[in-house]
Amino acid sequence: MERLKKYIRSVPDFPKPGINFYDITTLILNPDGFELAVSGMTEIVSALKADKIIGIEARGFIFSSAIAARLHLPLALARKPGKLPARTLTEEYKLEYGVDRVEMHIDAVSKGDKVIVVDDLIATGGTVLATCKLAERLGGSVVGVASVIGLDFLPSQDPLKDYDIRYLITYDSE
Ligand code: AMP
Repeated sequence: MERLKKYIRSVPDFPKPGINFYDITTLILNPDGFELAVSGMTEIVSALKADKIIGIEARGFIFSSAIAARLHLPLALARKPGKLPARTLTEEYKLEYGVDRVEMHIDAVSKGDKVIVVDDLIATGGTVLATCKLAERLGGSVVGVASVIGLDFLPSQDPLKDYDIRYLITYDSE
């Protein structure tokens, strides 16, 4: 999967100095790149035998929807606060400065669902962890997490250690 890297643009100092931003807009602009990423992610989701996919807003939606359509699996959305119209459950998580929240409709996951959480990139793991917790509070069991990119700089106490995390590619921290 290393060849996937040629489709991903790396933008230094975005959105702030010191952050190297991995831009997947160049990947999805290229049909060969997008196909490669979606096929790889689809294989992971099939192997983990999930019966529902949860896509994380916003770039997680791009990959999760393509995989869900290929595998004919239901797709549930984890969104930023205030976007979902029906009854929701919220999970708060810490950012470097301050907190953020992720929300799901309470009927998006049912008791016993075997879910896989999908995003484009995992950095600290905070967003994914909050989404996993939300799915579990709704009665689901998280069979895995799939991300196109993993950044190899998780804190020593890996917040995702209890989950089966799969990446297509990883980048070292800087
Ligand atoms: P985290 O909660 O720290 O794992 O952050 C993950 C979310 O932030 C993902 O949805 C990514 O899309 C975005 N993100 C964080 N760091 C980067 C980065 N260096 N390049 C691109 N996206 C990032």
